[in-house]
Amino acid sequence: MSAPRVTTAPKVVAVTESSPADLSGLRPGDELLFLNGRSPRDVIEYSLLVDEPDLDLVVRRRGRADPFTLQVAKEPGEPLGAEVSSAVFDRVRTCDNHCEFCFIHQLPKGMRRSLSMKDDDYRLSFLYGNFTTLTRFTEMDLERVLTERLSPLFVSIHATDPDVRADMLRNRRGATSLRWLEALLDGGIEVHGQVVVCPDRNDGAILHDTLAGVLDRYPTLATVACVPLGVSRFSHESAMRPHTEAEAAAVCDTVELWQETFLAAIGRRMVFAADEYYLMAGRPFPPAHTYEGFPQHENGLGMARAFEAAFGGNERAALGVRPGFFAAVDGAPASGYRAVRNGDQVAPSDIEAPIAILTGEYGALVLGPLVDSLDRPDIRLVPVANDYFGGNIGVSGLLTGTDLVEVLSSQPEGHRYLLPDSCLSEGRFLDDLTIADLPRAVEVVATDGLSLRRALEGRPPQINTDPTPERVPVTLGASR
Ligand code: SF4
Repeated sequence: MSAPRVTTAPKVVAVTESSPADLSGLRPGDELLFLNGRSPRDVIEYSLLVDEPDLDLVVRRRGRADPFTLQVAKEPGEPLGAEVSSAVFDRVRTCDNHCEFCFIHQLPKGMRRSLSMKDDDYRLSFLYGNFTTLTRFTEMDLERVLTERLSPLFVSIHATDPDVRADMLRNRRGATSLRWLEALLDGGIEVHGQVVVCPDRNDGAILHDTLAGVLDRYPTLATVACVPLGVSRFSHESAMRPHTEAEAAAVCDTVELWQETFLAAIGRRMVFAADEYYLMAGRPFPPAHTYEGFPQHENGLGMARAFEAAFGGNERAALGVRPGFFAAVDGAPASGYRAVRNGDQVAPSDIEAPIAILTGEYGALVLGPLVDSLDRPDIRLVPVANDYFGGNIGVSGLLTGTDLVEVLSSQPEGHRYLLPDSCLSEGRFLDDLTIADLPRAVEVVATDGLSLRRALEGRPPQINTDPTPERVPVTLGASR
């Protein structure tokens, strides 16, 4: 017998003025017990229900003894105008793997609580681009994904050899759960894969075997990202260590070799190595066209080439974070997953002042040549070492307020300090500090080349009006 479903009612956190929700009398704080007689499990079902015309909402309101009904007059497809507090109303399916390389196990105490949640939930994969290992996926989930066309999804592969995969996940179901990947692909679902490459675990011959396995069994995968493990100074896994320069170069070689094989076999490269590998190996990045449209840009694949192209004026290459499915969902929250990075844009107080670009150590390697090409002595880079996490963490997205406080304290006043928004979520750093805690005022700039160029020229940020919803994967959280 299956366990009864535990569902919490969606709670309204915001109501748009003059929207159907507002006109019906719905208020922030209300709980939506039923929508047209149904209690949605998650925001996917919620979005389908609120798409209907003329809704009956059964509402529980604080201060009123009994639930009551609100009737909402609206057209089919018209937004309801109510934002709810979470994406999943029954429980988020948590991960029962124990990967040695899991970055969540390497976080220090005191970080935002949402960062320590290990989810392995296909719904969050669809909604936010989180990677799932499918070890908790079921027949019913498959049926729902196929029926509701929840596509694309993002799947952690790591290895196609069953024993290696089970060892890496420290979960025997890891040996068999890729059968779901086959079923998803057979059902026409677009799936992006990821291999977190760990030295002496799944690099070398095993990486070759994995990519051969992908070509043999999953040739309809959309992409496969090879990304390095992150090792912080809080890791307790003695076998986990950063790649050496030679090992990073070997990963680049392996991926490039297999790109040729994939191109010959299926007409596209499919597999890509993260930018970090080229930085670690001291090699130039592959040409922009080889990234085939940057499908895993947000996972650090081709980010440097896209940044460079956008910095040079190619607006189409200015790929920032896209809100994914939520771009098209009425009232869905992003908080805790893919929240807005920083809502308020601060205008420069003195556009003639010298400019310092704050960035991570890897970011500095990418930005250095671009800034040099401007030949502007008033612009300097300020690389911020990631002492907070330590280890091999050098990407700008993991910069913390603590390290920025340290670095900015010794920087002169009166200069413009530009900070990439990739290290913020709703205006907060990973260590819960905010930009108000920094000793110098900073201008938060969207993490793409075009936005940086505009900021350096003292021009206001450009609003992205591209209406195309597109999902992108996360780099911190599940599976990395
Ligand atoms: S890396 Fe991902 S799959 Fe592995 S334990 Fe961490 S959250 Fe779970």
